[in-house]
Amino acid sequence: MGFFRRKKNGFQSINWKIKKKCIEMILASAKSTYPNEFGALLRVDEEKKDTIVELVLLPGTVQGESHAIFKLNMMPVDFSIVGTIHSHPSNNPNPSGADIHLFQKHGKIHIIAAAPYTIDSWSGYDNKGNSVKIEIV
Ligand code: ZN
Repeated sequence: MGFFRRKKNGFQSINWKIKKKCIEMILASAKSTYPNEFGALLRVDEEKKDTIVELVLLPGTVQGESHAIFKLNMMPVDFSIVGTIHSHPSNNPNPSGADIHLFQKHGKIHIIAAAPYTIDSWSGYDNKGNSVKIEIV
């Protein structure tokens, strides 16, 4: 897939990975929060900085019926946090305009889990809302 590799202005695409346990926890949390939305932050391994290993729940995050509201002023200063995850109560995993706005401001890798929250019903996105492949490891 060399064709898709870009390296310019010091930017190099990252081959994102997520631990199976972590994506399973996301899907289970999304399922149990349904029909409300589930939202959390994504943390990478301290050494393997391309591998998402953990969810960080924000204190005071509102699981609303509308879009998950991240209280990002509560966001800890933690450089192992690389992005966000939230669920959609519909089967549409595409980011909304508000989602892309959130993505742009808070991190570089984002996940949306759509109903029915199976291993095939989630997608990864970069901070511009472009879809990104995240490998389950
Ligand atoms: Zn959304």
